[in-house]
Amino acid sequence: MATSTASSPNSLLFHQSSSRKSSSLAIPSSLRLSKPSSLSLRRISCTAVTAPLSVSSSNASTGRVFNFAAGPAILPESVILEAQAELFNYQGSGMSIMEMSHRSKEFDYVIKKAESDLRSLLSISDDYSVLFLQGGATTQFAAVPLNLCASPDSTADFIVTGSWGDKAFKEAQKYCKPNLIWSGKAEKYTKIPSFDSLQQSPDARYLHICANETIHGVEFKDYPTPANKDTILVADMSSNFCSKPVDVSRFGVIYAGAQKNVGPSGVTIVIVRKDLIGNAQPITPVMLDYKTHADTLSLYNTPPCFAIYICGLVFADLLKKGGLAEVEKNNAKKAGLLYDTIDASGGYYVCPVEKSVRSLMNVPFTLRQSELEKTFIAEASKEGMVQLKGHRSVGGMRASIYNAMPLAGLEKLVAFMKDFQARNP
Ligand code: PMP
Repeated sequence: MATSTASSPNSLLFHQSSSRKSSSLAIPSSLRLSKPSSLSLRRISCTAVTAPLSVSSSNASTGRVFNFAAGPAILPESVILEAQAELFNYQGSGMSIMEMSHRSKEFDYVIKKAESDLRSLLSISDDYSVLFLQGGATTQFAAVPLNLCASPDSTADFIVTGSWGDKAFKEAQKYCKPNLIWSGKAEKYTKIPSFDSLQQSPDARYLHICANETIHGVEFKDYPTPANKDTILVADMSSNFCSKPVDVSRFGVIYAGAQKNVGPSGVTIVIVRKDLIGNAQPITPVMLDYKTHADTLSLYNTPPCFAIYICGLVFADLLKKGGLAEVEKNNAKKAGLLYDTIDASGGYYVCPVEKSVRSLMNVPFTLRQSELEKTFIAEASKEGMVQLKGHRSVGGMRASIYNAMPLAGLEKLVAFMKDFQARNP
């Protein structure tokens, strides 16, 4: 069981921050339980302590677990600690970022730096606007047809490779005439079609894909080219955003909820080609019109400031780690460990997804003896590997292994899987 020095979930432990940026991953040994008498507002940082975890820790010194949740999901520890260090008094402003006007000079820097770092990471050209919006990726299921289809009679093509693509298709039916040109439903969403076989509509305004299906673990490794040069390729990249390099110039719109790879929930990033902005259907709510946000640099109304700030820290961290090519290498290594373990188990563990399109981010798998799955999940949790239960619609297990999941998390998981198999043949 992880230990915590908290006397109650609401206790605050005050400690002097020796530097603004925290470099050590361990809880500082200088932690003091009582408020220092000479408390200087400018130099203090504040550690909120949660209730003790009911699992054995993956890291005994910090009490942190390996969190395999699909989203909200694991974030880099260095980012959490950096945010913690400057939470109480952001950059000497005398207030936290949560208390600050979105029109302050500090926040202006935060949002511009976040955008600029994201542009560097994905090599986004000036032909594109980068928007920080609210409403989740789900809101984009409506915003995309409202912005791209000047008329509700316009058509759009959908390739549906999982539940999220299906939701996007269904929502689009309210605002345009979408065609389902391919669905993997009959094969339980385990495949991606060959692009040559697709019957695309000649007049489709856009072609929509979900680049990585979070529930089913199916990921596009390449992208289809619309048959008509005027058809816009649109991708929901919520669950593999910034997990690998992407040629943004192939897309008209990319959208992603932040809460898997790049931040907390509450902000959705939309990358939209500028020439597509400004043609929304007249019924489009002002908050769903890309022009509203492009014209105001995402500051039309109060944006999700704290979430944008954390995204900015994650983008800077990804750049520091060498950019997305490096990140992809790491992700491939981590996912490889898990898929190899599943495939070498002699059918004890099964991943139903066709090998060539298996996700590097979300790995669904089942046990041959399905009655052992509950035990598997409970035992893993006791070992500090949490949130391994599969989505309620598919059952089994799912390991979400986003950028921030360390290799050690995968090593521990596969060791556990081998041991579990040996103990429960
Ligand atoms: N698309 C994908 C691929 C997702 O994984 C999710 C959420 N899990 C969504 C869309 C919906 O996102 P949100 O909850 O931010 O609306």
